Amino acid sequence: MNQMTRREVIFSAAATAAAFGLGGRLSFLGTAHAQTATERGFHRYNVGSIEVTALYDGMWEKAHDPAFIKNASVDETKAALAAAGLPTDFVPIPFTPNLVKVGGQIVLIDTATGGQTGGPKAGLFMKHLAAAGVDPGSVNHILISHFHADHIFGLMTKAPENKVVFPNAVIHVGAAEYKFWMDPAIERLPEGRRPLAKRAQEMFPLMKDKVQPFEGDKEIVAGIRSVDSPGHTPGHTSFHVSSGSDQLIVLGDVTNIPALFVRNPGWQAAFDQDAATAEATRRKLLDRAVADKAMVTGYHFPFPAAGRIAKDGNSYVFVAA
Ligand SMILES: [Zn+2]
Repeated sequence: MNQMTRREVIFSAAATAAAFGLGGRLSFLGTAHAQTATERGFHRYNVGSIEVTALYDGMWEKAHDPAFIKNASVDETKAALAAAGLPTDFVPIPFTPNLVKVGGQIVLIDTATGGQTGGPKAGLFMKHLAAAGVDPGSVNHILISHFHADHIFGLMTKAPENKVVFPNAVIHVGAAEYKFWMDPAIERLPEGRRPLAKRAQEMFPLMKDKVQPFEGDKEIVAGIRSVDSPGHTPGHTSFHVSSGSDQLIVLGDVTNIPALFVRNPGWQAAFDQDAATAEATRRKLLDRAVADKAMVTGYHFPFPAAGRIAKDGNSYVFVAA
């Protein structure tokens, strides 16, 4: 449904309304609302007494590439996209950081592309943060899932300006992730990863007084714990947000777009540095979400990127909220 064009939505709303004798005015509020949320660029919901705001940075329309998924062909990829009602002429990879308000603290989880990666249709985050009424100076904490460009480039404006975007925030980073990317021996990394390590090594020393590494499973802010989730990167971290019996697992990049990697948890994206560990982590966290009836949000899930996971044999289904 969310991939229908506006014209199709209007047509089908009118057709359905006619069928139900509604005169076309009251029908399809849900669809109209969902479309507005993406256009508006933010979407608020609650986890118990905690307020979460999903913030849309835009979408990378990634060209098909046989190397993208090591154990699935481009045709299989297109078939999985089609089965989810997504376009098949490219891989649609959106970016959605979340802002969490808890106990008087404003916490941002990941920072979007900063318009410095992710193609021409990404880089809308700051505009949508403003639309949501949030001043960057009011952010107290930033939690980083991992150091890939689409998650950290929003911390700082482009070189040579290198201006810190959230001047009053403590930046919490996984100690293992920090150590991996900040190792001066960049030449031990695969060639494709070296420019990112180089940029991270330019950025983080400029924010040294703000960076706070954490280890393992730890309460970082009251109501938010880190969850060690390695594989996509060596120190990848997910976050567990809880209030009373309500919980939200912020998966980060434990899985990329659900149409491909929740449905096929064994598919190995080229982005996953250690594919076997990434799959084990993916299954572990998706199983946990099912067992705990927790909500999940994924950084590359279709906006507003929140919903639940259902088990389907040896695979899973993401059900958008
Ligand atoms: Zn990512």
